[in-house]
Amino acid sequence: MIQDKIHDIVGKLPSGVKLVAVSKFHSVPELMEAYRAGQRCFGENRPQEFAMKVPEMPSDIEWHFIGHLQTNKLKMVLPYVSLIQSVDSLRLLEAINNWGTMNGKVLDVLLEPHVAAEETKQGFSCDEIMSVLSSSERYPNICFKGIMGMATFTDDEEIICSDFSRIREIHDAVRREYPVLADDFTELSIGMSDDYPLAIKYGSTMVRIGSMIFGSRNYGVV
Ligand SMILES: *Cc1c(COP(=O)(O)O)cnc(C)c1O
Repeated sequence: MIQDKIHDIVGKLPSGVKLVAVSKFHSVPELMEAYRAGQRCFGENRPQEFAMKVPEMPSDIEWHFIGHLQTNKLKMVLPYVSLIQSVDSLRLLEAINNWGTMNGKVLDVLLEPHVAAEETKQGFSCDEIMSVLSSSERYPNICFKGIMGMATFTDDEEIICSDFSRIREIHDAVRREYPVLADDFTELSIGMSDDYPLAIKYGSTMVRIGSMIFGSRNYGVV
């Protein structure tokens, strides 16, 4: 089943759009089914669960971190991760840069703007993103790869489209205003199980799909 879902989705994605299989709350045997279908990129959102799964899975997996990351959990995540998609504050960005400096690593990150209607303190404003990137040289151990965004949780396609359009505008504004970053700043991570076809219309380069592959999550386990 999981294998069929992966094949289905990958078969329908336009070239240039990468599938991140969001495996949070699912077990290692379920992840292995996706792996056997050829999936190599997985997304997790909780440091503890992530740290537990990494050593249990094959070493050629590209792990993305997609959840809120507290600065005191960096060492559980950063040594193993290929891309931190969910950098949602200046404080976190600075902590990641410092960790990179201390460990001799350059970390690939996406910045997460807050555009959805939900009340949350997480996520940069558009102005904050522009201001961070206007002094990107202050983060020598960070490689800015693009933007990750989430649309409002709603069935209303107009709202979802307007959110994706705003996220896309931030991405384009960065590339326009800061051409020195443009070679690296190419990723637009938008789209989840329910809205990824719309996200592709807005230029997604990376869709993060969980429940459509693995089924619904049982928040009581793992
Ligand atoms: C859980 C999660 C997803 C996947 O959601 P589905 O609706 O299960 O596809 C995508 N992105 C983020 C940031 C998530 O936390």
